[in-house]
Amino acid sequence: GQDKFKQVISHAKEYGYIFSSSEIYDGLSAVYDYGQNGVELKNNIKNYWWKSMVQMHEEIVGLDAAILMHPKTWTASGHVNAFNDPLIDNKDSKKRYRADVLVEDYVEKLEQKAQKEITKAKKRFGDKFDEAEFVSTHPRVVKYRQQSQEILQRLGQSLNDDNLADVKALIEELDIACPMSGSRNWTDVKQFNLMFGTKLGASAESASDLYLRPETAQGIFVNFANVQKTGRMKIPFGIAQIGKAFRNEIVARQFIFRQREFEQMEMQYFVKPGDELKWFEHWKEIRTKWHNSLGLGDDNYRFHDHEKLAHYANAATDIEFKFPFGFKELEGIHSRTDFDLKAHENLSGKKLQFYDPEMKESYVPYVIETSIGLDRMFLAVFSSALQDEDLGDGNSRTVLKLPAILAPVKAAVLPLLKRDGLPEIARKIVDELKWDFNIDYDEKDAVGRRYRRQDAAGTPFCITVDHDTKEDGSVTIRHRDSMKQERVKIEELSSIIAKSVDF
Ligand code: ATP
Repeated sequence: GQDKFKQVISHAKEYGYIFSSSEIYDGLSAVYDYGQNGVELKNNIKNYWWKSMVQMHEEIVGLDAAILMHPKTWTASGHVNAFNDPLIDNKDSKKRYRADVLVEDYVEKLEQKAQKEITKAKKRFGDKFDEAEFVSTHPRVVKYRQQSQEILQRLGQSLNDDNLADVKALIEELDIACPMSGSRNWTDVKQFNLMFGTKLGASAESASDLYLRPETAQGIFVNFANVQKTGRMKIPFGIAQIGKAFRNEIVARQFIFRQREFEQMEMQYFVKPGDELKWFEHWKEIRTKWHNSLGLGDDNYRFHDHEKLAHYANAATDIEFKFPFGFKELEGIHSRTDFDLKAHENLSGKKLQFYDPEMKESYVPYVIETSIGLDRMFLAVFSSALQDEDLGDGNSRTVLKLPAILAPVKAAVLPLLKRDGLPEIARKIVDELKWDFNIDYDEKDAVGRRYRRQDAAGTPFCITVDHDTKEDGSVTIRHRDSMKQERVKIEELSSIIAKSVDF
């Protein structure tokens, strides 16, 4: 887990996928820049989502709302009052922590202890080891797991009831120390609003307080009537949007999984009240198919249905992905009722309703939302694609098995030698293919090293030009995953690549 995670981070940097923001000034915590390959992968993920949502669904249209919105938006949506995380300060080290995360880390340590016992016993008993039997009878493992459950249950209750004193009591009872200083001198727990504030206007008196949007969804809700009327949309219909969101996360760690500036791909589907649970199931299915179509491994996914629901929801599920640090939320599917549209109606005084010609009446639609973090999807794709392969002959290679449709560069054209007219032919191939695909040209180093470099960068095809090319117009095409090589005509290249990267 941890080693793989470190490899993902360093590989992402080495191959121009992800850099720390303003790195020459030592970076900015939990903010990242996407490099020359990263921006391509990110754009390809966006496109893949956008096409499947907007292009493939007649009843779904797009939107690109501004990041800055009227401040009343965030009062109506509930973010001003309720978009908080529990914050605790250590009085000695002056470091701040998310109180719930301190407790969760403690639980994780208990689990690590349990794992240690399991590994030890595995070694001792070898083939005869029965893990299920062991974890249900071994006194220490049973104790660790029971304790974990009790703690998490108590934590859940105290957070949900907004009973923050209980969280502090829990931290004290467990004798949790500050990870930085070891001090146990904690302040009370208080709510910390995650929205970034900023000011509109030049002079201090006239300036008004604004927020950077913490989610893209509200841009869709406030435009509901605009889109419905001008697009003459009939229920059910959806509005899709991709854009930046900002959250002042208290603990920002796990690389691009939890950032302060990130991107969301959201779709709000407006339905008739009463029909929402049917559509909720429908969208769970469609989104699962979308994920499976990329072939990241169906076992890497699982659903987590929410038992405790947010104030606006009547059903909710997370699609979780097996990141290098375990299963974590990748996408949320929420049945949001009419909470948002009603709240905006109330505060704005404008009608946000649909006139149903068959029922001959107007109503505020219910909403099913699918919301996926673009950066988390990037991490899911990237980390599952990164593999060390044993080639069996004492050699190994690092290969980034990105789905071809998402790969930044689709093919690299390599002249075998830097002379005899081979570079000129290779350049000509690039010039033809570049109209349809992102193509690389590489003539440096021995061809074997160039193959390895393209494997590690995730390029699905290498096209090698050699002396025979001059005779018969054929080239070698090498497939990244199988490493198989075949001889094909230059004219065939375009359709071979297209076949593997078509939508
Ligand atoms: P979490 O519980 O992990 O903080 P959340 O439940 O607050 O996430 P939502 O508000 O449902 O997340 O946001 C929808 C999606 O946006 C998430 O599924 C996730 O993919 C993405 N997302 C949320 N917060 C972040 C962040 N800080 N960095 C990157 N992506 C994020």
